Amino acid sequence: MPIAKTENACTPILPEQPDSTNSKDLLLSDISPKDKPWDKHRGFADTIQSHYNGSKFDRYATRLSFCSQLLEFALTPGDDETIRLKLRSAKFCRVRHCPVCQWRRSLRWKAKAYQILPKIVSKYPTHRWLFMTLTQKNVPIAELRETLIQMNKGYKRMVERKLFPAIGWLRSMEVTRGRDGNAHPHFHCLLMVPNSYFSHGYIKQYEWVKLWRECMRLDYNPIMDIQAVRQGISPSSLVPELLKYCTKESDMVADREWFLELTSQLHKMRAIATGGVLKEYLRDLEEEPDDLIGEGDDELGEDYGRLLFGWKRTEKRYKMIN
Ligand SMILES: [Zn+2]
Repeated sequence: MPIAKTENACTPILPEQPDSTNSKDLLLSDISPKDKPWDKHRGFADTIQSHYNGSKFDRYATRLSFCSQLLEFALTPGDDETIRLKLRSAKFCRVRHCPVCQWRRSLRWKAKAYQILPKIVSKYPTHRWLFMTLTQKNVPIAELRETLIQMNKGYKRMVERKLFPAIGWLRSMEVTRGRDGNAHPHFHCLLMVPNSYFSHGYIKQYEWVKLWRECMRLDYNPIMDIQAVRQGISPSSLVPELLKYCTKESDMVADREWFLELTSQLHKMRAIATGGVLKEYLRDLEEEPDDLIGEGDDELGEDYGRLLFGWKRTEKRYKMIN
């Protein structure tokens, strides 16, 4: 194992081991509880890998098999003279539905949003924020792509309506799997509106439903939800809901055929879109992040040594490697 620069540095995080214990038995999740999610996501990635195996997406299975097999962490100074682990290097497959890469991507997007939203709030201090969820009826998974294309068109029509109050918006797409196997596509949207919206041109809930119905050219009232963020509450509070996974892991692993069809249907479909004045601030969120490591590696600071962990497929754990 890599040598720590100072002897004491390791004590807070590395529990004392009996002499007989090999460092190979040290689990990442024990040494660094905050890194527990690695086991969960890499475990789901194994299932996704076997879903792709032998399918027309066999090449994705190969890429996934190399994803995040080895993690290198630096021991860095934490708060209160403790030591913490910071990810320094890992190889990612960047397959869209890889649970590990999806998780890292979401973390990067969230970090970006948490960094930028307060800047927007200070630039537009009197503006207010709305959180809107747009849906339509569930559809067979084979019709998902066409449905999302129609939803994109419907959304565009809505934004272009004169009465649409937002001067900026962020929209993310989510697809969940219904119990009957149908797909449930929906949009989560953050809208920035002038304060005057609440006194002039305010749109009531049933009017929003009507608006979405018209823009989607539906013959029924779609379910939609809209709420105003209370004054003084930061729109950052909505980030977890806005920038969560496009499809949650439990839905992706539930049914192989459904998942393979989802992969085809979502190919090159954009998950996040921005518009109006928010575009200049948040357009980075429309793209795959360059860096999936994160962890503030721009401020490298001092390392007290490095630790390597390898994925153990049978045990579904990351274990330390000598
Ligand atoms: Zn991956």
